[in-house]
Amino acid sequence: MRHLNNNKTYQEKSQKKKRKEKLANKKKTTKPAVVHSAFPPRPASDHLIHCIISGFCNDTSPSQFEEAGCAVCGQLTLLSELKAFNEVDICYDPLINSLAAKIEKKTLDDPDNEVRSPILDPDCLHICKTCLSALKKNKRPLKSLANHLWIGKVPEALEGLTYGEKMLIA
Ligand SMILES: [Zn+2]
Repeated sequence: MRHLNNNKTYQEKSQKKKRKEKLANKKKTTKPAVVHSAFPPRPASDHLIHCIISGFCNDTSPSQFEEAGCAVCGQLTLLSELKAFNEVDICYDPLINSLAAKIEKKTLDDPDNEVRSPILDPDCLHICKTCLSALKKNKRPLKSLANHLWIGKVPEALEGLTYGEKMLIA
């Protein structure tokens, strides 16, 4: 009985060895397919030329690299990853944060008025996917302006500064 068991295990081992050898031989023998082509190659077909040119046009069209700001977080984002406000129907209540922004005071006598509406950049007309997904869950996006990141609009006097002037006030 013992002798039979030993014989069985020996057979199993030898079969495993054979399988391994076969696999190794297969790996060794698989050579890249040799492609016989005429030289010089034929000119590209009209279809191939059309595919190459239209692919280039699609990859370099303005929609692939144009950017715009997100009204919620203010970050420049690819236009292809933004949605226009009129396309989305969501609640902006999570963006109401009276502690994050105040209405600009024109004189010293003006009272401190908090902003009681959603804090959005008025110059931006789009919303990015990250902010949109957070607002759909009724949560304030982490990088939103309403999350104490709104510093207000840049004053006119500081808009057109030269590099040297920027360095002076930095
Ligand atoms: Zn955003």
